[in-house]
Amino acid sequence: MQITDIPRALAQAAQLLTEPADMAPYLRDWTGQHQGTALAVALPRSTGEVQALVKACLSEGIRIVPQGGNTSLAGGSVPGQDGPWIVLSLVRMNAVRRLDTAARTVTVEAGAVLQALQEQMYPHGLTFALTFGAKGSAMIGGCLSTNAGGSNVLRYGNARELCLSLEAVLPDGSVIDTGAGLRKDNTGYDLRHLLIGAEGTLGIITAATLRLHAIPKVRATAFLSVPDLAAALAVLNAVQDETAGAVEMFEYMPAHATELVMRHFPDLRCPLDAIPDCGILVEVASTSSQDAAAGEDGAPRLNVRVEAVLERLFEQELILDAALAQSDAQREAMISLREHVLESLMAEGRWQQYDISLPLAQVAAFLDHLQQVLPSGVRSHVIGHLGDGNLHLSLMPGAEDAIVLSERVYDLVLRLAGSFSAEHGIGRSKAALLAARKDPGTLAAMRAVKAALDPEGIMNPGAMLT
Ligand SMILES: Cc1cc2nc3c(=O)[nH]c(=O)nc-3n(C[C@H](O)[C@H](O)[C@H](O)COP(=O)(O)OP(=O)(O)OC[C@H]3O[C@@H](n4cnc5c(N)ncnc54)[C@H](O)[C@@H]3O)c2cc1C
Repeated sequence: MQITDIPRALAQAAQLLTEPADMAPYLRDWTGQHQGTALAVALPRSTGEVQALVKACLSEGIRIVPQGGNTSLAGGSVPGQDGPWIVLSLVRMNAVRRLDTAARTVTVEAGAVLQALQEQMYPHGLTFALTFGAKGSAMIGGCLSTNAGGSNVLRYGNARELCLSLEAVLPDGSVIDTGAGLRKDNTGYDLRHLLIGAEGTLGIITAATLRLHAIPKVRATAFLSVPDLAAALAVLNAVQDETAGAVEMFEYMPAHATELVMRHFPDLRCPLDAIPDCGILVEVASTSSQDAAAGEDGAPRLNVRVEAVLERLFEQELILDAALAQSDAQREAMISLREHVLESLMAEGRWQQYDISLPLAQVAAFLDHLQQVLPSGVRSHVIGHLGDGNLHLSLMPGAEDAIVLSERVYDLVLRLAGSFSAEHGIGRSKAALLAARKDPGTLAAMRAVKAALDPEGIMNPGAMLT
């Protein structure tokens, strides 16, 4: 189909970009591995315009890929190369529709950028807690559609737990509103949970009512050296117990990750004298004024309490060394070390990335077995949101090893009752993997849901379900 063939109903529904140079950024994904083609990029301003676009595409047999910040790491945010497509970008739908500071909820349009929403909430003493490296570009609709996680899932849950209700346009052009953001609403199937994590295959999220949290008044952040992963989990549980479950971050930083970042960003230093084999970045946060008040030595009481737990764990030989941040600058430096891992990896070349999760008790076993299944000469890196059992594994095999290596990694993950996609989703990158490895009964039910809601298959075909 030529640009001149764009159906009138589509052209009338919303503003369209059709020039190749204007469309280019919307057609290539963040990883650079997926490039699609489209008749146009549609930029609707309202739910009504999204609805008109969907109806026009349905009647003309045009496929739709919804797009937020286009930061997907699974290749689901750009069109395929087959058939007529449009990209439906939510970028112009970014308004806060309603803020309820008493109920601590906000209703916001799907195109709101995560970080911008957080900044809009700060003057009210509130925050939308979801956070990760792409927060400056990722949008609320994209975060919900991938059920994004990040570094503080341990405390606040992933995107699903932070969403109370949704407004969406379904593939037949109908608009649904799953509720008014109530915390209790048992009136039948909860379609919110079907659309969250659906990666644009079941409809277009146009707005959401989200849970907000008070901004912590004080944080205690430490970089630890621990003997091994079993000790790390004992440390996590001890700190959780002593702080009433206030751990926000518990990140695994083995020596090779710390060394990698220090090589690429010489200004970033390991906070400990010796780079730990098994390093942990831990952060505890509290909204309590008492925790924020200064104790006898002038430090916030939360820090005093955390320091006492760390000392006890040191005596029990569960911690070998620890550095507790004494200032915001020291805290930022510790977090920066963790946040620069992905960028440092990318600077080293093209890696095969794995986003897996495991039962906490199996994380150490996975890493041990992994060494046995890696062919010699394969470079490997692993970091992780350890508190969630979520590991980000990067391997650089030779071309001949690439496919067989993935099979081995996924065999191992499934043997240990883990998941082959923890937080980045399936997209186009893992659609074949899902078809091959998902439990057949669940896969059949997923296909039945897709067929019921999108019988014409216009919503992001090729992503998630093949
Ligand atoms: C540097 C970096 C760090 C990252 N760190 C993390 C991390 O720690 N944790 C994590 O979970 N992810 C992480 N990601 C992945 C990515 O940021 C998330 O998946 C994010 O949620 C995607 O949001 P987005 O707005 O960019 O969505 P997009 O990339 O635009 O789209 C993602 C998927 O959602 C669909 N979609 C988008 N908007 C809508 C909508 N309104 N309605 C229906 N479907 C829609 C798309 O079709 C696509 O399938 C990271 C990415 C980068 C680049």
